[in-house]
Amino acid sequence: MSKKYSLLSVPHLEWHVTHSCNFMCEGCGHYTASDVYTTQTLETLREWYLLWNRRIRPRELSLLGGEPFLNKKIVDIIYMTKEVWDMQNDQEYELVSNGLLFDRTPGVAEALLDTNCILTITKHSEDENYLRLFDKAIDKIKESGVSFRIHDAVSNWMKIYYGYSNSIEPIGSDSYQDSWDNCPTGQENFQLLDGKIYKCAPLAYLPLQKQKYGELLSEKWNPYLKYSPLLPTDSDLDVLEFFTRTAEPVCSLCPKNKNFFRKTNPIHSPRQ
Ligand code: SF4
Repeated sequence: MSKKYSLLSVPHLEWHVTHSCNFMCEGCGHYTASDVYTTQTLETLREWYLLWNRRIRPRELSLLGGEPFLNKKIVDIIYMTKEVWDMQNDQEYELVSNGLLFDRTPGVAEALLDTNCILTITKHSEDENYLRLFDKAIDKIKESGVSFRIHDAVSNWMKIYYGYSNSIEPIGSDSYQDSWDNCPTGQENFQLLDGKIYKCAPLAYLPLQKQKYGELLSEKWNPYLKYSPLLPTDSDLDVLEFFTRTAEPVCSLCPKNKNFFRKTNPIHSPRQ
């Protein structure tokens, strides 16, 4: 049978293995501080992968959330993802976590080592109570022997909206080009969700906020809820155009300047 599509090299692809999070970070661009608890099954993720793994080849591939260790199938997901995407040594395979549940996730260290998956630990605050837990988690990770690095989300944290939960409102911009030039997600953080590919997390996970809050969500989000992601049925030309597109009007969702700010302690009580 002839091959229908060609394989396109793309910079980065990531997805939530769960939207649930044990943190509540102000201004989270993935909106995971807003009580959306969906967790993806192994089978669902495999279905999403099979729609794209013969069409695109990400140079970097990241599993994240939410907090990935809240997905009870995370060990199986780490192995299955590596296999289905056929990750090679010239590609980077990464899992992004806040680290606090690392030692409560049996088998994860072995899975990361077996699959050559690097663990990126996001550091969120300089708050003393948080740092006590963070340092303890880092000690456990060091003991495990997995390859890890720390991402500074203390001084590099930007927000794209004001408020929490159903009161969120986009900061917005009168220049989508300036917003793109200061893109808070780094311009290449494409998201896989429900088998479709989105330009970035703020656009991908916004419809989940609408599903959750309905009419309570500010109308200011409406233009961005009309965003159309890349579909598995789109042509090779559409795929190429999508991954090479730069600034577009929908980027006016984001502030036009880099508005770094220091958030408070992101730890909160476990949800009911
Ligand atoms: S909407 Fe545009 S500027 Fe904002 S995060 Fe997405 S890609 Fe970046």
